[in-house]
Amino acid sequence: MQVRRDDTVLILSGNDRGKRGRVLKVFPEKDRIIVEGVSFIKRHTRPSAQNQSGGIVEKEAPIHASNVMVICSKCGEPTRVKRRELKEEGRRHYTRACVKCGEVF
Ligand SMILES: [Zn+2]
Repeated sequence: MQVRRDDTVLILSGNDRGKRGRVLKVFPEKDRIIVEGVSFIKRHTRPSAQNQSGGIVEKEAPIHASNVMVICSKCGEPTRVKRRELKEEGRRHYTRACVKCGEVF
């Protein structure tokens, strides 16, 4: 999955199309993410220790990672990412880079 926690993403489909938001949580095994302020669902909850009165709570629902585009923190553009090989101390590892500006972000 291309998306990481704390990325800013552009929403490509659904009611929130065109919105931008910060990724709060990723679920790599499901390819789903939670984006701040996007895809609110209402949940009816019972009173609990955290929420004395209970009632209706609005909460972000997970959305599929294919419905968003990562916004590059270097150039500010919605972009795809490519894998980039880095060599450090003789060891090879991979990171991601923006396809538009080529920067690692
Ligand atoms: Zn970029």
